[in-house]
Amino acid sequence: MPIVADLHVHSKYSQAVSPRMDLSELLRQAEIKGIDVIGTGDFTHPLHFQAIQNELEPAEPGLFRYRGAKSSVRFLLTAEVCNIFYSRTKQEKRIHTLLLAPSLEAVQELNRTLASWGHLEEDGRPVFRRQAKDLVKLARGVHPEILLIPAHLWTPWYSLLGSHFGFNSLEECFEEETPGIHAIETGLDSDPAMNRRVPQLDGTTCVSFSDAHSPEKVGREATVFGTALNYHEMAQAIHARSPQKLLYTIEVDSRYGKYYWDGHRRCENQMAPAETRRHKYLCPVCKQKTTLGVRHRVETLAQRPESFIAPSSIPYKTILPLEVILADALGKDSGSKTVENEYAHLIAQLGPELKILLDVPEGTLKLAAHPLIAEAILAVREGNYTVQPGFDGIWGKPCIISQERRLAFSRPQMEMF
Ligand SMILES: [Zn+2]
Ligand SMILES: [Zn+2]
Repeated sequence: MPIVADLHVHSKYSQAVSPRMDLSELLRQAEIKGIDVIGTGDFTHPLHFQAIQNELEPAEPGLFRYRGAKSSVRFLLTAEVCNIFYSRTKQEKRIHTLLLAPSLEAVQELNRTLASWGHLEEDGRPVFRRQAKDLVKLARGVHPEILLIPAHLWTPWYSLLGSHFGFNSLEECFEEETPGIHAIETGLDSDPAMNRRVPQLDGTTCVSFSDAHSPEKVGREATVFGTALNYHEMAQAIHARSPQKLLYTIEVDSRYGKYYWDGHRRCENQMAPAETRRHKYLCPVCKQKTTLGVRHRVETLAQRPESFIAPSSIPYKTILPLEVILADALGKDSGSKTVENEYAHLIAQLGPELKILLDVPEGTLKLAAHPLIAEAILAVREGNYTVQPGFDGIWGKPCIISQERRLAFSRPQMEMF
């Protein structure tokens, strides 16, 4: 059985995270979304780590179950940390790194040292004024199976290859510790095909997780393993990059991501990378430096054409969140009551979400869902839609069902449903 894993989430102890994000809510969301192994998030935070120890109990090696719950969902120990430091060229760098750990003991030992680097209780995603490579050195000393993964590799802020506070290569950041990095997180705005254009990433595995800050966002991206259910084999699969063990990743359409294109939110100006170069990197509205998106950074560091197909890469599937598909099909806002009700109805009838998006057969979909909704889900599976790309913190705007098509379904018909 394939194992669907979402190993980058946050708890309510991280800044700008929903107060509902605790372990029981993560469990509930994993069930709704179809996630088999979910990250605990924030194991560096003393109160969250206490909750991990109280509410979870050991299951398979390196995995945990929620005490007393009748659920097949497993937890894996995860955290994200932020390193702020100066590079050799005296530039300020701010890098987020995802940590996966194989045992409570490893976490305890890691936390003991990290507590001397910064204030773990201040933020579920703690800040360390130290080189990112120190983290690799520390992890190596604590347990050889701890995985360090540069988080959302390309996003402009707090990312290793991002346009603000980032580097131009993994080596510039990790120096002699670079061999300790086996994987990168593609983030919402890039997919494996984009990353494989960049030869310096050839030695890394592309993984994909949600980085959820609220319950609704859990499972919007995931990595699917074909291994036995335990930490050791899952970590090995990331190391080895074998398509038999790492089956595929699930990626939100990169154009939907908030930082895909370049632009300025406040100036309502968006630009494709070529346009930005033509404007000499300045916003045509305010004449200030424009925010460079992920697409731009990938094009800057890519040495292969867009059509490049890596010989042995792990496949991936592109999705849009079901909530977004429903909003488009029904012509409503994605936060609206109509969309919320329809979402709950579909999950109850056909759930979980990832199964609806990827696997439920066409016939079954058409029996249970409104015809326009079934049509929209199938169109996304086939890549038969467009997206006005996101930029500078604004989500992309998908167009799946045309306005004419929506109008063709008269109101009485819609209501009958
Ligand atoms: Zn982050
Ligand atoms: Zn501007």
